[in-house]
Amino acid sequence: MALKKQFNAIKYTDPQWLDENGRPWLRDIHRDAHAKPFAHLAKAWERFFADLKAGKEAHAPRFKKKGRCRDSFYVANDKFRLDGKTIRLPKIGEVAMTEELRFKGKILGATVSRTADRWFVAIEVEVPDAPFYRRRTAHEVNGVDLGVKAAATISNGEAIEAPKPLKAALRRLKIRSRRLSRKLEAAKEMAGFGRDACLPKGTRLPVSHNRQKSAATLARLYARLANLRADFTHKLTTRLCRENQALVIEDVNVKGMLANERLARAISDVGFGMFRSQLEYKAKRYGTHLIIADRWYPSSRLCSICGWKNEALTLRDREWVCAECGAHHDRDLNAARNLKRLATETALPVASPTSNGGAAAGMAPVVVGKVTPVRYDGGHQDTSGQEEKCAHFCAHS
Ligand SMILES: [Zn+2]
Repeated sequence: MALKKQFNAIKYTDPQWLDENGRPWLRDIHRDAHAKPFAHLAKAWERFFADLKAGKEAHAPRFKKKGRCRDSFYVANDKFRLDGKTIRLPKIGEVAMTEELRFKGKILGATVSRTADRWFVAIEVEVPDAPFYRRRTAHEVNGVDLGVKAAATISNGEAIEAPKPLKAALRRLKIRSRRLSRKLEAAKEMAGFGRDACLPKGTRLPVSHNRQKSAATLARLYARLANLRADFTHKLTTRLCRENQALVIEDVNVKGMLANERLARAISDVGFGMFRSQLEYKAKRYGTHLIIADRWYPSSRLCSICGWKNEALTLRDREWVCAECGAHHDRDLNAARNLKRLATETALPVASPTSNGGAAAGMAPVVVGKVTPVRYDGGHQDTSGQEEKCAHFCAHS
């Protein structure tokens, strides 16, 4: 609060300071846009100190800078007006949206943000619970193994390929990145630095019109890749929740896997983290039981038929034969089947921590036992798959 007061004092009584410190633009922005970040900052520090006190890993808030981070600002519900496909924002005026707000209810606020060269407004609306729930079309029980070869392998035998957008556009990405860095090099030379010089902190190079254009082109490509990826995971996670009464997935250590550079590109291409968080909220929506297997549950190593553990299995083995019962396994499908077992009473005894001599290879299923169908009534079915982007509107200003 003290910091906010100090800021407001400068903004409203000391306009000269703004000009002298290169922040004349602060005058043109609405009060809400700079009041909210202080609330966020307070929350972030509160969390930091609470974590520190509790002895947990604490992360201090990171510094944000206009034009360098995700550009966005908040508008309180009494500061903007919606009228069909038009939104009236403070200090900006009327902006056309690509579509009308699809929800009826109390409007709580809005956040305007930018991705590449497009502007979006996310409108928070309070709606009753009923429209949130959706009806399932099937009530199966399945395990899902996420991988690099096939993005997802379902225990019913289906292997789903990811549209590997990053790989396909990598060449174009390289070209556009190179074009941009050439312009940066040129700017460095113009300013009297060497091509590869490390600039002293706080140096501001003049930004040419061409460099701006080039940066925008690159940003558009990145945004398109992100959209392709999001589209794929949204469709997959919606389908999985819609068709299953229980789903078992692995708790994948994404950070640890990304540290492995050889795997990193393929993994980030599939979007593991996004996959899991979407499943988590959609499972609630469809009344699907989501079970997350422990990170150390050896889903790939166990034989899904007899439970023999293949200690010699390496990452390279795509297929293997069980030494105990002679079953031939596809690596990913076998893992998916083992995961499925965690949702049913046929969970293999080897999978429990006690019979494993207390080794790290245990499992922590949320439920083990027979799963009975759960139905939610009152929810209507929506097969458009577009519901996920409900509160996002593209605005042309
Ligand atoms: Zn076997």
